[in-house]
Amino acid sequence: MNYNEIIVKKENDQLLNYEELDYVFNGYLNGKVSDADMNRLLKAICKYSLTEEETYNLTDIFIKSGDILDLSSLGIVVDKHSTGGVGDKITLIIAPIVASIGVRIAKMSGRGLGHTGGTIDKLESIKGFDTSLSKDEFINEIKDINVAITSQTANVVPMDKKVYALRDVTGTTKSIPLIASSIMSKKIACGANKILIDVKVGSGALLETIEEAEELSKLMINIGKKYDREVICMLTDMNSPLGSNIGNSLEVIEAINVLQGRGEKRLVSLSKIMASYLVSMAKNISFEDASLLVEDSIKSGNAYSKFIELVTRQHGNINNIVIDNKKIEVYSREEGYISKIDTYGLGLLSCKMGAGRVHKEDEIDYGSGIVLNKQIGDYAKSNELLCTLYTKKDIIDEEVLKLFTFSQVSVKGNPLIYQTIK
Ligand code: URA
Repeated sequence: MNYNEIIVKKENDQLLNYEELDYVFNGYLNGKVSDADMNRLLKAICKYSLTEEETYNLTDIFIKSGDILDLSSLGIVVDKHSTGGVGDKITLIIAPIVASIGVRIAKMSGRGLGHTGGTIDKLESIKGFDTSLSKDEFINEIKDINVAITSQTANVVPMDKKVYALRDVTGTTKSIPLIASSIMSKKIACGANKILIDVKVGSGALLETIEEAEELSKLMINIGKKYDREVICMLTDMNSPLGSNIGNSLEVIEAINVLQGRGEKRLVSLSKIMASYLVSMAKNISFEDASLLVEDSIKSGNAYSKFIELVTRQHGNINNIVIDNKKIEVYSREEGYISKIDTYGLGLLSCKMGAGRVHKEDEIDYGSGIVLNKQIGDYAKSNELLCTLYTKKDIIDEEVLKLFTFSQVSVKGNPLIYQTIK
């Protein structure tokens, strides 16, 4: 076989069989195919797409590129994944909720990517929190307390790690078969039997239309079936940030608020629904019965206690979460209903303020971030507080004000959930 002939085949919109995909992707992993040649192949896949059969094969090749976690000693284990959004701290909320109800959750999470935040960066804003558990530490913690959250170990799907890093810098992220094989290979290699995937849709997300999100969801559910995994996909709105806080420490504090029975209503609502789906799948009970358990876990304080148990077990100090001292308050200069929030712009702004990485090697300022005082649909008077920035950087008001659009007629917020596909 010849690498170039395989790439040229896809450039001419021809099908690639298992052996050809295996040969060229393993060639890339082993350094025999250059970034430039892999980029040609990825671009051709973006242009001509892959058939379902090719996508299944690629997923299988990805899975086999590294370790596959054997969680069979743990019984039923759930996992949750988000395609990435702004202000998305749902994992921090639902992992302790379901664990407190007796559902085991094994969570390997990532760092922030582009304008979106990552669970691992958020957890590292808790001083001392250890996010690099060994395989044994990960499994033992789940055995002992039903939950563990760790960063992706280097050996789980190393092929995705290398290919994703290239996709990220070459504009080849938005291919549905590539997203499906990237996500599902990691979920399957991580070993859980029941998986909930939050497919974000909107201006702050990877996919902007419901149709694309639907196609991705169906493909991921079918990949799950091949490996005997139950997958539920929820298409949720990312045209506005999730909750009020964006930035690592600020998002941990907001997650704690929800676990203690407070919090912004859309964030609370989505957290409860997602936790209920996980509990319902794991315990094989109705969604309504699972919802009662979720409500009770928050009301009783069990969910928050489980969060503290998780933090303590991973050596974090919950009393040491720092927010930047310098505050910039941004006030509206006009009056009206907030009709649009540029979520992608807010994500980029929070990165610039230090909450994410502009370059791969950048250090994060965990205490930086944005607290929104207004959501889409809210009315703002002139000179009313729109948001507060916590940052060591200098940011001018105009940079923030341009991210809010006002309307003189009342506007309804976007739906929180567009669809749930099983
Ligand atoms: N998240 C992933 O893990 N992979 C993708 O390709 C997109 C989002």
